[in-house]
Amino acid sequence: MHITTKALVLRTVDYKESDKILTLFTQDQGKLTASARGCRKKGSAIAAGCQLLAWSEMVLYDYQGRWSVKEAAVERLFQGVRDDIERLALGCYFAEAAELLAVEGLPSRSLLSLTLNSLHTLDTMQEKPLPLVKAAFEWRAMALAGYEPLIDGCAVCGANPPENPRFHLREGVLHCAKCRGEVGEGISMPLSIPALAALDHILHGDPKRLFSFRLEGEPMKQLADAAEAYLHTQLERGFSTLDYYKSLTLS
Ligand SMILES: [Zn+2]
Repeated sequence: MHITTKALVLRTVDYKESDKILTLFTQDQGKLTASARGCRKKGSAIAAGCQLLAWSEMVLYDYQGRWSVKEAAVERLFQGVRDDIERLALGCYFAEAAELLAVEGLPSRSLLSLTLNSLHTLDTMQEKPLPLVKAAFEWRAMALAGYEPLIDGCAVCGANPPENPRFHLREGVLHCAKCRGEVGEGISMPLSIPALAALDHILHGDPKRLFSFRLEGEPMKQLADAAEAYLHTQLERGFSTLDYYKSLTLS
């Protein structure tokens, strides 16, 4: 049996002398693992499409329950991401997060389009600040994966907007600073009114206009810090790609 599907390469591991094992995010089958035989040999026709972050039309064969890449016609390599180490590190973090949030064998077109849209933005929109792209990806990815934060008012007293709004990482809700005691244990982070307006745009706006907002200074920092902390709190793990991205941006 074979299928033809578009696929984004989320992860590659070298295998044997000239093969790779790929984690693919496919349009039709969701996440799956496939071997790419001979793709590291000189002149391999599938080499380009089997690189990390390549988006291709692939023909995959299923042999005894294992997928193998027969053809890969590249549609996007996101060259602007590959040419810049910070953008590449951030793109790899998006891929690692998407790999964790996608479900094996279950199509998730909205998460796939978010990942592609984010790579496209890194690739072509040099003027977009990277912290903005990163925060929008993180919040939206969490919402699509079933961790949508509730941001319509204080979860305790209902005030909308909450007074001195804070976001509770474990509960995924907003609350007023004075209602802190009623929300439960765990960390809350400040999200000012401008940061909340941006978050509302990210969660409830047109996905095609996801990155079409401006936010600067302290509100941008709040939006970015809470996005990362929320993702880490809910998923209970860190990301080696993110550690690498941060090592670049801090130096
Ligand atoms: Zn309240």
